[in-house]
Amino acid sequence: MHIIHWFRRDLRLTDNPALHWAALHADQLSLVYIYAPDEEDWAPGAASRWWLHHSLERLQARLAEQGQRLILLRGPSETCLLELGRTLGADAVSWNRLYEPALIRRDTRLKQSLREAGITAHSENAQLLFEPWTLQTGNDKPYRVFSPFWRKALRQLQARDILPEPELPHAQAGLASLRLAEFQLDPQMPWSQRLSRHWEPGEAGALTNLERFSSETIANYPQSRERPDQQGTSRLSPHLHWGEIGPCQVLAECRERGLDHRYITELGWREFAHHLLYHFPQCLSHPLNARYDRFPWRTGTECEADLARWQQGATGIDLVDAGMQELWQTGWMHNRIRMLTASLLTKNLGIHWQLGARWFWDTLVDADLANNTLGWQWVAGCGADAAPYFRIFNPATQALKFDPDGAYRARWLKLPRPAAMLDLKESRERALARYAQIRQKPSADGAGQE
Ligand code: FAD
Repeated sequence: MHIIHWFRRDLRLTDNPALHWAALHADQLSLVYIYAPDEEDWAPGAASRWWLHHSLERLQARLAEQGQRLILLRGPSETCLLELGRTLGADAVSWNRLYEPALIRRDTRLKQSLREAGITAHSENAQLLFEPWTLQTGNDKPYRVFSPFWRKALRQLQARDILPEPELPHAQAGLASLRLAEFQLDPQMPWSQRLSRHWEPGEAGALTNLERFSSETIANYPQSRERPDQQGTSRLSPHLHWGEIGPCQVLAECRERGLDHRYITELGWREFAHHLLYHFPQCLSHPLNARYDRFPWRTGTECEADLARWQQGATGIDLVDAGMQELWQTGWMHNRIRMLTASLLTKNLGIHWQLGARWFWDTLVDADLANNTLGWQWVAGCGADAAPYFRIFNPATQALKFDPDGAYRARWLKLPRPAAMLDLKESRERALARYAQIRQKPSADGAGQE
């Protein structure tokens, strides 16, 4: 049997269920990656493209060690796979499932076309502990609140055996492939070159990170996770996003070392985000709490100028600017600082959460549609199980608690510092006044009533 394995966000060889299935059943196995940014809900941003370039480079090198070759094509995915299938006389195409609205629609159509062409489509789950449709409330509804979602998940959570790296049968040589450089993913700018000082994309980098985290940090995670001035979290987010490591591998490692419940809960938030996006795809552009559809976000040129200052880390509010600099320099920002910077933008500055989400999307190496959307809606107060709108982070208190010696700010702040662009107390009052406007008017579905 000739099988094509279609790599997507599963850029790994170990614990890759669809690749494992293909290796088990194929006499001949062809491997393909198709770059098709237009098929996604949000095309990958600049930092993600940089990551993808390097991750594919590493995957190509790993496969070459096995005498295998990764065929690189540019979308449309359906045309590429049907043509490749016909050229090779392939019997099946395998892939690991993705759960974003546009990709679900594409894959459903594709499955049908492959079937019509006499090619079997075989898909597996490599990305989540629980696929979004496997957890439901007692009334067979999707969850909207994290705690009951995760309680149910923990009751069903079973560690499965980790699949070893398979031996890959060879396929016919000489098929046309683009060169990786032809995707033009790595802009080769000082900005992107800096990213490689902080990250090692690819499966080996993911496993090194997991090993470092589980041997050095996990024991202290419940405390260290709150400290942006320390390396207290796993930094696995970009690796998890690109599937260079899977959540089952992370779970297995944690359990081997003596399960740390707090850390597993963070993986739970990732599961919850994917659950929400799957069941409520409208949340990409609309707040999950319908009342916020009427929220009076600021607009106009003054607002654009304020957004630019926030993006550049020039608000004059030290902890916020340090975070925005960390993001620009490294493509990553600590979770606590993500919450703080997002709170300043949406609440003190009254700027729409989607504008912040778009900036994160372009600059984060871990930009992930489900996690980013959940994160922004949570902070803005308009999500499913969100922080209440009136909870507005105070940068001074946050700095005292989470950067007590100022080490984080000292690392990222440039001198001289601009004056603060807003008065925190006044802007807080204005934010609460904006909130009061939607609080008093019930929405059509009654969600406005307190
Ligand atoms: P760890 O603390 O080591 O956590 C382990 C893993 O759990 C993470 O790698 C991540 O996959 C998952 N996780 C942890 N916290 C969350 C969370 N709150 N929501 C969902 N999953 C979580 N995470 C992304 O992966 N991509 C994003 O685009 C993204 N955007 C965000 C935007 C905002 C405004 C906020 C507040 C949070 C966002 N997060 C996002 C969630 C979180 O900040 C990052 O996952 C985390 O900081 C990544 O660092 P880590 O791997 O060291 O985390």
